[in-house]
Amino acid sequence: MIDVLSEPWCARCGVPISGAVTQATVCGRCRKSAPSFGKARAVARYRSSDSDGADPLSSILRRHKYGLDQSLIRALTECLGERVLLDANDYDVIIPVPLHWRRLYWRGFNQAALLARALAHKMALPVDASSLLRTRATVPQTAQSSGERRRNIKGAFAVRRPDRVAGKRVLLVDDVITTGATVDECARVLKASGARAVDVFALARRA
Ligand SMILES: [Zn+2]
Repeated sequence: MIDVLSEPWCARCGVPISGAVTQATVCGRCRKSAPSFGKARAVARYRSSDSDGADPLSSILRRHKYGLDQSLIRALTECLGERVLLDANDYDVIIPVPLHWRRLYWRGFNQAALLARALAHKMALPVDASSLLRTRATVPQTAQSSGERRRNIKGAFAVRRPDRVAGKRVLLVDDVITTGATVDECARVLKASGARAVDVFALARRA
């Protein structure tokens, strides 16, 4: 069964939290070190495959990543439509997390860009898939700790066209959030280039 996320969650990173929470409650990790993005929201959560190989969303996402199952995008953006996670009025532009050009060449498509386009259609917002670049290919990070991951991703992104980003309220889109290090680094770089605000949307996050 797909585990659709619901409140209560951290007001910043969106990780599920329990106990007495308000709209403004943040998780321990965000309290210790505030992320560069305003808030991150995901439709569903999955368990990493090493902890439970039978998690259905985990295997759907893997198929999606390698282009075998694009219907996932449609199904999960429909989920988004029914549950209002984000307000289109809060954003000026949607920017997908970019792939390094070499990986894009090898794979043939960027799954985050496909999701960004589906979302842009739904939210009636423009997509900018060329201002943010991945300048360094990073090794797959699934087995890394969040600290290792953060170091590995540092400096991997750059803004090619700061003039297109300056003053904008950006909705950054990725298919999956694992530790959050990738979207946090993208948000940091976008804000350093003058973006007024950066929020994050993903199909799924690792629980
Ligand atoms: Zn948090």
